[in-house]
Amino acid sequence: MNFSDYQKGTASVWGGETELFPEGAVTPPIVNSVTYGYKDLDEWHNVATGKAEGYIYSRNTNPTVHVLEEKIKALEGAEAATSFATGMGAISNTLFALLTSGKRVVSLKDTYGGTSKLFLDFLPDYQVNVTLCDTTDFEQLEAEIAKGCDVLYLETPTNPTLKVVDIERLAAAAHKVNAVVVVDSTFATPVNQNPLKLGADLVVHSATKFLCGHSDAMGGLLCGNRELVKKVFQFREINGASIHPEAAYMIARGMKTLELRIERQNASALKIAHFLESHPKVSSVFYPGLESHPGHSIAKRQMSGFGGILSFSLEGGYEQVKSFLPKLKLVHLAASLGSVSTIAGPPRTTSHVELTEEQRKLLGIPESLIRYSVGIENVEDLIADLDQALAAL
Ligand SMILES: *Cc1c(COP(=O)(O)O)cnc(C)c1O
Repeated sequence: MNFSDYQKGTASVWGGETELFPEGAVTPPIVNSVTYGYKDLDEWHNVATGKAEGYIYSRNTNPTVHVLEEKIKALEGAEAATSFATGMGAISNTLFALLTSGKRVVSLKDTYGGTSKLFLDFLPDYQVNVTLCDTTDFEQLEAEIAKGCDVLYLETPTNPTLKVVDIERLAAAAHKVNAVVVVDSTFATPVNQNPLKLGADLVVHSATKFLCGHSDAMGGLLCGNRELVKKVFQFREINGASIHPEAAYMIARGMKTLELRIERQNASALKIAHFLESHPKVSSVFYPGLESHPGHSIAKRQMSGFGGILSFSLEGGYEQVKSFLPKLKLVHLAASLGSVSTIAGPPRTTSHVELTEEQRKLLGIPESLIRYSVGIENVEDLIADLDQALAAL
């Protein structure tokens, strides 16, 4: 079924679920079976060699996992999709499948902490040439791309300072040198941004975050160009970073309410950003929906909503952050983001904990920053909670 005729809320409910399941089940069964039997060898052989549809072994493909992949395909308008045990599984499989010794990747200084670690520590060990540019210096990025590269790897909005990267402009530059353009769109979700429509070849998501939406399952997704997805899928089949069918079910279930949650989180985050921006004890607020945000005009062009995450710093630095965060009642002080409940924490203990203080400094992340991932609670309650904690400082 082609979902391009339907809107996102429809695609996320019906993607991968347009046919009834065995016994007429209307929801996808969690198929825990590792292997799939055949009555005759010809049929088995045809499935094994890709001449007929079917399943052989769950490290490669699985019916529950297939439903999840169909949903992201429908939501991103992609030709093909595959899945992984975690978001980092998706990112590392993609980079290691596309980048072999002697190849060059151009990327940003502000990628997710784990991704930065791949660029700074692991890929160079495999003789991959890595160039990380200032995230919003598009002229520098274009100049580096023009020197020739195999992969342009972008992330937008970025974690944790919500910088916005111009996908269309940089994808055009990358395609002039035949580079593959990969975008980590985790913060935006397919409800707010569709990188493939802006020229990207591949999109990665940490499905652990908004797609799952409940902080109770981990997964990663990759979708886009059929040949490129196949290449990464074949690498993943062998290195084995497959998602478990139970996790795939949980994420696919969460995705059915994705649009509802994101619409709410977009609206709440904007209200909270305005509240914080006008508060005297808050020194800076980073949210792409604010007119004061340097990436606001690009965000307005390439996103249909500004997302559920913002970050801010307090007057007084890290000591103030330490006394402020425990005063909040309606947050989990925890890592991760994109859940139904509000989650907050400083990047130095969450997304960028893998990095040294020196590395964080190089990436432009203030030690006193607070990342605030807005849940689906009522925004009046969240603002009152922030207000009382700020007043108590
Ligand atoms: C969380 C996150 C990842 C990594 O995903 P995991 O599921 O934790 O492996 C990658 N990119 C971004 C932007 C993230 O927020």
